[in-house]
Amino acid sequence: MPLTPQTDLARYIQEKCGENVCLCYWCQKCTAGCPVAEHFDLMPSQVLRAAQFGQKEFILNSKTVWLCAACEACSTRCRQGIDITRVMDVLKIMAQREGIEPSVRTVPMFYKSGLRRIKLFGRVYELELMRNFIYGGFSPASWISGGCSLAICPWP
Ligand code: SF4
Ligand code: SF4
Repeated sequence: MPLTPQTDLARYIQEKCGENVCLCYWCQKCTAGCPVAEHFDLMPSQVLRAAQFGQKEFILNSKTVWLCAACEACSTRCRQGIDITRVMDVLKIMAQREGIEPSVRTVPMFYKSGLRRIKLFGRVYELELMRNFIYGGFSPASWISGGCSLAICPWP
């Protein structure tokens, strides 16, 4: 595998965040340290591998892109210095821009709700955010059945 991005997806990621996914040689250290990996359908190393081969639809339809908690454990552990968290951010934004239905619907809803509050009040008041989110149609049970209990759900 050449070290310069050869697919449109790999080139796009590099252009947007400066990370070269083709440097990944699949050591899986990122996956081994990810605290959320057991809830993913694609491991972080698999996301990088798929990106090397330009498997855009495959990645953007995964739960992983949405369940990634942006904790940066993978980026810290990567032997090749790839900031995987930034790659995940690019993929999230890309999925939204391309109108791909999120496979974990509650996560982008939560982001939008928080961003609306920041726009209105300049800060997020967590209790009010959760109240509006729940009364907006998302019960704790729907979060859990939606598969995001670990990502951002405040209930154990
Ligand atoms: S940033 Fe995302 S993929 Fe990386 S370790 Fe944290 S949860 Fe896992
Ligand atoms: S730690 Fe870095 S080099 Fe290893 S699999 Fe993950 S992204 Fe690839």
